[in-house]
Amino acid sequence: MSTDRSQNSAETQGAPSDVLRDPELHRLLHAPGLSGHDLSHARQIYTNRALRLDHISMVGFDMDYTLAVYSMRHIEELAFRMTLERLISKCGYPEHLQQITYDHEFVIRGLVVDKDYGNLFKMDRHNYVGRCYHGRQLLPIEERRALYQNEKIRLSLPRFAWIDTLFSLPEACLYAEIIEALERPQPNGPPPEKVDYHKLYDDVRASIDEVHRDGSLKTELKKDLAKYILRDPELAPALHKLRSGGKKIFILTNSLGDYTDAVMSYLLDGQLPEYPSWRNYFDLVIVGAQKPAFFNESRPFLELDAGGKVVNEKATSLERGKVYEGGNLFDFERMSGHAGEAVLYVGDHIYGDIIRNRKSSLWRTCFVVQELEREIEYIDAHQPDITRLRELGHARQRIDDLINHLKLTLNALDRAQPRGSTNPEVDAKRAKSKSELEALRRSLKQIVSEEQSLEEQVERGMNRCWGLCFKEGNENSRFGEQVSDYADLYTSRVSNFLYYSPMQFFRSPRDTMPHERR
Ligand code: IMP
Ligand code: MG
Repeated sequence: MSTDRSQNSAETQGAPSDVLRDPELHRLLHAPGLSGHDLSHARQIYTNRALRLDHISMVGFDMDYTLAVYSMRHIEELAFRMTLERLISKCGYPEHLQQITYDHEFVIRGLVVDKDYGNLFKMDRHNYVGRCYHGRQLLPIEERRALYQNEKIRLSLPRFAWIDTLFSLPEACLYAEIIEALERPQPNGPPPEKVDYHKLYDDVRASIDEVHRDGSLKTELKKDLAKYILRDPELAPALHKLRSGGKKIFILTNSLGDYTDAVMSYLLDGQLPEYPSWRNYFDLVIVGAQKPAFFNESRPFLELDAGGKVVNEKATSLERGKVYEGGNLFDFERMSGHAGEAVLYVGDHIYGDIIRNRKSSLWRTCFVVQELEREIEYIDAHQPDITRLRELGHARQRIDDLINHLKLTLNALDRAQPRGSTNPEVDAKRAKSKSELEALRRSLKQIVSEEQSLEEQVERGMNRCWGLCFKEGNENSRFGEQVSDYADLYTSRVSNFLYYSPMQFFRSPRDTMPHERR
């Protein structure tokens, strides 16, 4: 009412009519081709904190799982197998473990390993432990509550390990599968063994670390890059667009020079005629950066020659066309001439690329979450179910309130009428309230049961073990919350920048508190 009135009075006074109803504006806003407008949800760049790309002079990229999108199942399976072989051949784990297999659905980013109990669990944003597995067995709710209900989970304790990068998925899976195989062996197999959960985790961690560090994993990857890395045809145009918009761009990766060269050549060489080599795209190349230490320690930049040999132990300038190893944030900003909020860093490791960076620098951040694409497509395809869940949730809350109100009414009626006495008016009120209460309880039972089974169906459809990566029950998962707390932007892949202008103003949606939501 009041809106219409003010609008009418504005019109009669000759003031412009409601700009939001202007047909010309409507036509322009809905024309195809506007920045990000006609993109599917799965390819959009999402904003947690407003960022103006025209204020960014330099954009940096992590390589693995950021510029280089791995075929997750293939690389995880390879790391799983290689690590298992090492556990058997070097750490003395039994030969029969060769039987265990990698179940890619059993591990997602954001899980926590509890080395005291040999469990794997997912937390919500309040650090409440949701789903929890011991080996491959889902813990019944009472058991989970008995273990975690009265405890504040502090992930910084050595007892916990947070599975925060895609590289660590195989180790979580190995941990659970080995516990399962040793504690619950097959018929006719060896007898159950008591597992030292801390030692097992340390062995798995040390073995996978070795597989990464000694080059054996990379040697296998390099034999068939086409199998392990998905070449995104829009990556080269996206980088080109940023360069054409006047941005300097750089790589800052923990991978060493030879592997970076192999992967980047595979991704970019010959993709666009203006850039014969991948090196032409980048103003600075920093390999072996040892993030997160890059952001808060002070290693020198080593200059490498074309063969990867160190030719200068302490570079005093950073030059286009050269490759540097190591380094640190302070010298980077000083020598590159780009610092603080003028730098946008795009990475996939929530701690090493985003949180540590955010705590030590003023760089703006964009988090690349490969899993987002599938999760968004799934949510879009299940919108009717999600809407129904929201409606059921609202109805449940309203019925809870009404039931409490009726209970109070009945108590008041009981108190108003002394025992043994009758009063037809009070009796009628009591009968009416009782029958309403029963009807509400019946509806509540139905609602709760439909809500539970629909929620389970929606969650299991996405991932039968853990549900949605960004949610735990009704809450954001801890992982989801960290993304929203620390990353300025987040998106499913680097090439999504192709659909935005290099001047784009990424505006964050209006924040709402619970009392503002309807
Ligand atoms: P970035 O994502 O480009 O910074 O590079 C990640 C690098 O870290 C890759 O070379 C991985 O092989 C390496 N990496 C991942 N996990 C481990 C580990 O557990 N130990 C040692 N290196 C690792
Ligand atoms: Mg990475």
